[in-house]
Amino acid sequence: MTNKTAFYVSSLVIVPVLFALFYGARLVGRIYSLDQWVPKWDSLLILATMIVVERIYTYNYAVSQRSVLPRDVISNVVNLWVTGTVTGIMVLPILLFLPEHFLGRKLILASPEQLGPVWLQVAVVLLSVSLFRYWMHRLQHSVPFLWKLHSYHHRVTDLQATNTYVSHPIDFALRNVVIFLVLGVIGFNPFALLLAIPATNISGTFSHCGGDVKGGLLNYLFVTPEVHRWHHSEQVPEGYGYSCNYGVEFSFWDILFGTFYLPQKNGVAEMPERIGYPGGGLPDEANYLKLLLAPLGLYRPLSWFKQVLWMPRGQPAE
Ligand SMILES: [Zn+2]
Ligand SMILES: [Zn+2]
Repeated sequence: MTNKTAFYVSSLVIVPVLFALFYGARLVGRIYSLDQWVPKWDSLLILATMIVVERIYTYNYAVSQRSVLPRDVISNVVNLWVTGTVTGIMVLPILLFLPEHFLGRKLILASPEQLGPVWLQVAVVLLSVSLFRYWMHRLQHSVPFLWKLHSYHHRVTDLQATNTYVSHPIDFALRNVVIFLVLGVIGFNPFALLLAIPATNISGTFSHCGGDVKGGLLNYLFVTPEVHRWHHSEQVPEGYGYSCNYGVEFSFWDILFGTFYLPQKNGVAEMPERIGYPGGGLPDEANYLKLLLAPLGLYRPLSWFKQVLWMPRGQPAE
């Protein structure tokens, strides 16, 4: 085997190997409550690994993200450590109030035993989370207000670890937080949640890896970087409407609903030429405040206030 072939084979093997390692690490981490010491250590581990993978398996069409790095860092911090908590504070009281009000029960809708054996609960969690996220993501492309929020995620010019969490916090919460709050309230067996939830987060995060790693057969089950790159293609494949590959963690929903796109040439997945705003025309937005406030119509008032407050004082009248 030549060095080149060995390297290619390793680019095929690395994705399943990393998925298995991340899954194992997250199980161990949950058991030992590592989150207590370093909140979100598991996502940080995936991000750090992605950065290393990007250095080893360099991608031919990589576009430097250095000019938007401050925006990327702020987005990561906000969506990793703030969005989930704030959404919980806002949404949980409603989720807890509803069952109490309509069913006369407190806190939990069902007891873990009522929901069936653990393996069935694992399957239900995996399928319901991924189906919800698939459709939420599809709506985020087709409903104008939701697209306004989501479009900033699609203005990035390359997929890289640094921009994994570049998303308006409301856009991020709708796709990635709400469904987990609902699951918590339903009252699934904690062991079933322990087994299922890591599996829903690993490929969703790793899908933004900018390295030239191959998904192989995994492309048809998980949202790998190859699959997600097409979702970010500047040129939407013909006949696909707003976009393709809406799945967040699993790609089989796209296959089932006819939105999967991954062209092959000689058995190798082809990649889009350019990553960017669908149809082109809108450049990446480096200003985090603009990303945060403009979709809500609040950016102009802010710049107006800034102007008023920071305007040099007029000369005193003679
Ligand atoms: Zn999208
Ligand atoms: Zn993305």
